[in-house]
Amino acid sequence: MTRARILIIEDESRIAQLLDRGLKCEGFQTSIAPDGRAGLASARENPPDLVILDWMLPGIDGLEVCRNLKAVGDAAILMLTARNDIQYRVNGLEAGADDYLVKPFSIDELIARVRALLRRAAPISHPEVLRFSDIALDTGTRRAYRGAVAIDLTAKEYQLLELFMRNPRQVLTRDVIYDRVWGYNFGGASNIIEVYVRYLRKKTEVQGGSRLIHTVRGMGYVLRED
Ligand code: CA
Repeated sequence: MTRARILIIEDESRIAQLLDRGLKCEGFQTSIAPDGRAGLASARENPPDLVILDWMLPGIDGLEVCRNLKAVGDAAILMLTARNDIQYRVNGLEAGADDYLVKPFSIDELIARVRALLRRAAPISHPEVLRFSDIALDTGTRRAYRGAVAIDLTAKEYQLLELFMRNPRQVLTRDVIYDRVWGYNFGGASNIIEVYVRYLRKKTEVQGGSRLIHTVRGMGYVLRED
């Protein structure tokens, strides 16, 4: 998985640093530009996947930067503004912003929006057949097989199995699984992952198939052969 590159265009360095730290913690690559001119130069030189763009900037304002960004690349744009006014929101979206966040916002909210935008922007991947051990998962038909036996999966079971199949032999923490499969965090109290892992094991272990989804105590789960 490549790490998404995020450009932060924000003149208030306190906010820029806060965003920078929060996004880095989540594994994103970040860079900061203190004004629109520097931001556009950075976007041309090193095209980002997503731009967090403050509305009120010295020199070229955020709306103008937004229009220019749309002209030079296809990065998703999340605008930040202190103005909680529907009219400005409409202007921002017309200028090409993909989403909008009103200051003050929580870093968790911002990260959730960033993830949603990046998911939306992700290209639709070509169908392929993922294989691990004797399991095959067809991402086109969304059907799974263990050996020659077809396994019927619900939508969530499919997503969970696909996540394991794309990351074999890697321990997937509960947080990562929540984020990738459910798109939000249940806050640690939910046992929904355990429930779905149990369903998947039941379905993949019929007819005496060996266990492939293992619990790593205190950490999460891993797809491996023993
Ligand atoms: Ca500002």
